[in-house]
Amino acid sequence: MIPVEEAVRIIQDAVRPTERTETVPLLESRGRVLAADAVSDVEIPPFRRVTMDGYAVIAADGAGAFEVVEDVPAGVFPRVRLTPGKVAKVMTGAPLPEGADAVVPVEDTGGYVRVGQKADIKKPVGTGKNFAAQGEDVKMGDTVLAAGTFIRPPEMALLASVGCDPVPVYRLPRVAMLATGDELVDPTQKPGLGQIRNTNTYAILGQLQALGIKPDLLGVGRDNDHSLTEKLAQGAAYDFLIVTGGVSEGDRDLVPAALEAQGYRLLVHKVRVKPGKPLVFGASDDGRFVFGLPGNPVSSMVAFELFAGPALRRYCRVPGRLVNMVDVVVGFDFSRKNAGRQEYLPVNVTTSNGEYLARGVGYHGSGHFAALTRANGLIMLPVDRKEVKSGTMTLARLFEW
Ligand code: AMP
Ligand code: MG
Repeated sequence: MIPVEEAVRIIQDAVRPTERTETVPLLESRGRVLAADAVSDVEIPPFRRVTMDGYAVIAADGAGAFEVVEDVPAGVFPRVRLTPGKVAKVMTGAPLPEGADAVVPVEDTGGYVRVGQKADIKKPVGTGKNFAAQGEDVKMGDTVLAAGTFIRPPEMALLASVGCDPVPVYRLPRVAMLATGDELVDPTQKPGLGQIRNTNTYAILGQLQALGIKPDLLGVGRDNDHSLTEKLAQGAAYDFLIVTGGVSEGDRDLVPAALEAQGYRLLVHKVRVKPGKPLVFGASDDGRFVFGLPGNPVSSMVAFELFAGPALRRYCRVPGRLVNMVDVVVGFDFSRKNAGRQEYLPVNVTTSNGEYLARGVGYHGSGHFAALTRANGLIMLPVDRKEVKSGTMTLARLFEW
């Protein structure tokens, strides 16, 4: 058994960020990582942009009654150059007419009048007020986003503003998912004697989808060499293969040996963690990877969060923070006799009096996946810590799904 931190380090060292790129429609770019600098082909704003509904004026004219020479809504370019003693009606988003150097908000006037009539400018305004300077945000040729940027909603807006569509991004890995176990039946089937429904495929599928990855599902491998060899050979064609079940100590736990027979070197096998101890991580010489997650549904989901998710993010070049950690006040007592492993407990984190409070979810072991429906994160007990007391502070790792 190796410590969690060492397993994470081995996995993160083995998985290199991908060099492969593709382009995707801007509409589908959220959650992807930009593979080339995005350079602006325009200035933003592209013209002196009015930011209040009102009258474009020459500030030095001050208050008074001035002839309206033009009406400029957004989307129309003004034709008339303002001269002293003249004003133009302007709407938010319109270009400021030449000659004007400020906008008086309509509230500070006698209201809108028609072109040719006189507008009553009640309050003078300082020069430069109520419009944005041309190129104030972005200059032509500026790199607005560097390669390696993670694309979120504001980045999508910036990409749109500089005409970057389609978007060059790093490719997502090709991922296959295989459940194993003689006892497993599909959700559409009623389990017979000794059988259970396959749930891991759906949980892991959802965790992959939360990373933007659409895996190919290889179905269920049975607990015999023939079935596993056939399924794992299919899975070995993928950048990442995720297998659940068959990795612990039982005499039907054939997955580790079958993975070695497929040419994977097992770099991690058994981690000092609860749940998730039997975790397997393997690498092939040509840069393909496999995770063997323990079959218990909570174990497989937690092992995915701790090990597979961060590896996939690294491959995809998702930068910065790998996990979402918050300080929480523990809202329950927990104790254990054997503190030999790092232990993760599902919790429900809510805000209470300006703090995060982590409540228990009635969890009673790694088969109890229904408890996870009430959880939005995990708290961790380090090796040798035998208890957590209600009211103490700890870190919670929030699920991003
Ligand atoms: P294993 O790791 O194969 O020894 O399985 C440990 C436990 O998890 C057993 O109770 C299995 O029945 C259960 N299990 C394994 N795979 C799945 C799955 N795909 N869906 C639900 N439960 C599973
Ligand atoms: Mg099994």
